[in-house]
Amino acid sequence: MTEVSQKLTRALLFAAKKHTDQRRKGERAEPYVNHLIEVADLVAQFTDGKDADVLCAAVLHDTIEDTDTKYAELVKEFGQNVADIVQECTDDKSLPKAERKRLQVEHAPHKSDAAKLVKTADKISNLRAILDSSPPDWSLARKQEYFSWAKNVVDGLRGVNAGLESEFDKVYAKGALKFGMKP
Ligand code: ZN
Repeated sequence: MTEVSQKLTRALLFAAKKHTDQRRKGERAEPYVNHLIEVADLVAQFTDGKDADVLCAAVLHDTIEDTDTKYAELVKEFGQNVADIVQECTDDKSLPKAERKRLQVEHAPHKSDAAKLVKTADKISNLRAILDSSPPDWSLARKQEYFSWAKNVVDGLRGVNAGLESEFDKVYAKGALKFGMKP
């Protein structure tokens, strides 16, 4: 086993433990780790898995935001590069939700290429989740709003990986059709 795969499996175990009690918001309440693996898999498929740190950051991208994980812990376990990418993918939870969403759009163009990859893959996974197993209490308007907002964020992230960006466009187009929005 290479050092690269060992680092990745260690990140998978770390994230699986940290997110143990979390479920996705969809009607099937999928284990949260499904989302993390999907995001890492998207990054791996569209980058040929070349950069182990980006794959680890993809697996760990929600640890600081959604669990008790601290930046320093990620530095110690996975190195500063991985920790920095995860930090870039972390919203400031002390801010109101609307402000956090606005800042994601505003900050998107200024992210590092690695963070742009992870964030684009994250949005693909989130849109797929709404298409396949949407949260039972979400109205049509809320789904439309989420799709439009995600597109605004991804439009600011573009220019790093054409394949991943076109995968986003495909998922967005499906939603536009299903939820009756302009393509
Ligand atoms: Zn995520």
